[in-house]
Amino acid sequence: MALVVHKYGGTSVGDISKIKAVAEKIAEAKNAGDEVVVVVSAMAGETDRLIGLAHQICDIPRERELDLLLSSGERISCSLLTLALQALGYNAEAFTGRQVGIVTDSAHTKARIKRITADRVKTAIEKGKIAVVAGFQGIDEAEDVTTLGRGGSDTTAVALAAALNADLCIIYTDVDGVYTADPNIVADARRLDKISYEEMLELASLGAKVLQTRSVEFAKKYQVPLLVKSTFEKEGKGTMVVEEDRDMEKVLVAGVAHDKNQAKITISGVPDRPGIAGNIFSRIAEKEIVIDMIIQNVSDQGLADISFTLPRTESKKALELVKEVAKGIGAKEEVALDTDIAKVSIVGVGMRSHSGVAARMFSALAAENINILMISTSEIKISCVIEAKYTELAVRTLHKTFGLENPSLVTSSM
Ligand code: ADP
Ligand code: ASP
Ligand code: MG
Repeated sequence: MALVVHKYGGTSVGDISKIKAVAEKIAEAKNAGDEVVVVVSAMAGETDRLIGLAHQICDIPRERELDLLLSSGERISCSLLTLALQALGYNAEAFTGRQVGIVTDSAHTKARIKRITADRVKTAIEKGKIAVVAGFQGIDEAEDVTTLGRGGSDTTAVALAAALNADLCIIYTDVDGVYTADPNIVADARRLDKISYEEMLELASLGAKVLQTRSVEFAKKYQVPLLVKSTFEKEGKGTMVVEEDRDMEKVLVAGVAHDKNQAKITISGVPDRPGIAGNIFSRIAEKEIVIDMIIQNVSDQGLADISFTLPRTESKKALELVKEVAKGIGAKEEVALDTDIAKVSIVGVGMRSHSGVAARMFSALAAENINILMISTSEIKISCVIEAKYTELAVRTLHKTFGLENPSLVTSSM
């Protein structure tokens, strides 16, 4: 008998008929002999709806209260799915994050899991019950409700699978696995049978929202066998996330990712002397705002411009703070916010041993007249910040340039 954690995303439980269909799917797995633990997301659109309500009251809602509000989305779907299982005659029990002992740090809206006891889930399993857990949430040491960041139910599922030493964690979603690019943008994107933890980590952190980045970190750290599959396609094979193997090294580019949740802040006329960058970025870090790319231009008459990118959802909060910091360090000009940008990236472990990949990427974007605003690279990825309106064109262009629709081209060396 295998212990399997199933996670169902928002679209999978988007309305009552879908919730009932998911209950049938869980029942089928249980009938086949699996012990099933279920993690569920809020019904499609619910988290956005709740955020919208809060923003009708204030521009920058206090995050402690926002978390309490957002956690209710998963409590609703979790309760409804449990009722649907009970209606089918199964002994199911619903739990909040707190009830299964998910303790996080206090970084509201993007908290990290510190530990999980999962005692009540273990007891439910022992009694032959199906435990259904509300994803995306925990409590901090002060017992305040926290949420784990957008897409956080994936992390709840993988962390629970690790705590329970489960045989498999299946992320059921609206696509049949991890593709070479978002299949909703690139019609001929290819499903990958398997992908390495490293590549999946990069793709996820660069915007491929099919898995939350932290869920992949957990899977890698605790060696959780992780399968991404479609809720709706019965015959779908899905994608296994696994340790890197030799075949993967032959692949130059495994996938293209894009991220529209990007903004750029520029501080102009910054005095060019030691300690200034340290000062600016430690103030931002104190507010737990995560910065991505940073560029400082060559100083002119002792003054420089510093630009950095960050999640668009954090840009208002950051802008207020940066304006204050800019004043404090005697920056000469306005602080500018640009929310009209996006990031496109290519990822592949094969890049480690191939040269010329960046040149091919930049030339392909140039051929479409797409201007590159910022660049960053690591061993296995190259990212470019571009104007947001070119995102889809850039993703399709890069997918084609690296022949990702065709498996035989992907492994050819340059
Ligand atoms: P869920 O609600 O099930 O958690 P998400 O919307 O969070 O689902 O994630 C699934 C979506 O991820 C897909 O519908 C797809 O648009 C998007 N996506 C982005 N990049 C990829 C990729 N490389 N492979 C598969 N899906 C991707
Ligand atoms: N409901 C949350 C979100 O929309 C968490 C999740 O779906 O995983 O981001
Ligand atoms: Mg998701």
